[in-house]
Amino acid sequence: MPCVNCQSSIHKPTNLRPFEFNGIVFEYRKCRSCEWCFLDPVPDEKVLGLLYQRDSYHDKFYFSGFDNPLATRALDVSADILNPGSSILDFGCGDGSFLSGAKARGFDVCGVEYTKDLASELSQLHSCKVWQVEEFLNNRTQENFDAIRIADVFEHFTKPVSQFLDVIRFLKRGGYLLFEGPIENNISPVFLSITLAGLMRKLLKKTLPGMGLPYHIIRLTEIQQLNFFRKNLDDFDVMYWEVYDTGWPYLKGSPIRRAIGRLAITVSGKRFLGRSLGNRVFAVLKVNKV
Ligand SMILES: [Zn+2]
Repeated sequence: MPCVNCQSSIHKPTNLRPFEFNGIVFEYRKCRSCEWCFLDPVPDEKVLGLLYQRDSYHDKFYFSGFDNPLATRALDVSADILNPGSSILDFGCGDGSFLSGAKARGFDVCGVEYTKDLASELSQLHSCKVWQVEEFLNNRTQENFDAIRIADVFEHFTKPVSQFLDVIRFLKRGGYLLFEGPIENNISPVFLSITLAGLMRKLLKKTLPGMGLPYHIIRLTEIQQLNFFRKNLDDFDVMYWEVYDTGWPYLKGSPIRRAIGRLAITVSGKRFLGRSLGNRVFAVLKVNKV
């Protein structure tokens, strides 16, 4: 399949473990042109529907009390930069915890979720409008939000450029993008460990299936994420940019894995070889022109 970023058909295998889901083997490839790491094949609508079922995805990652301290940080930042009553869209609002927090702080909020059932459940739960994604994209034309939050969503985009632009066009000129999510190919103790393990498997000619599911379509570095904004937004100012590490997915498992996970948290955000160590980025961009 062509690269999800630049459409080049020239890409190479990586040492990351492939996933098997619904009888399909998914593997990460690295584009030789733009160097993005992406899942091949990209899951189709049927597979996405199976992946993002309420009981297997949202219950596991959100409604189970999944700890996302950055929802709080995004709320604090919103309170700093936005006037009371400002409109905020939370695109991919998960369990709606940001929506309810932002509403409590006096913002005019609405959200978007993948399935109709979850969207209407969240609407009732948080007493605000939550749209199903197609319903939102197809029916809204003139809405200009003061801020749009895209958190833990970008890595799920199967067409990152067009899907990102489809959302960001609803942002007011000079509005704020509150962005957060994983940068799984960024340098960190966990990434270095995963890379080393992959090289060892290659040397030993061992193939092991991955333990997760093909949720993340892309795995980027900090620089690739920043360059994506530079390439796809005409004019923006970086108001805030932080790379940090959660140790994921190494906080569970063997003692060695857990030690590496804890080390990743200890050195989180520190500079190493000219790069910031970490597996996630939190950013606030003032978008002057899309
Ligand atoms: Zn590419």
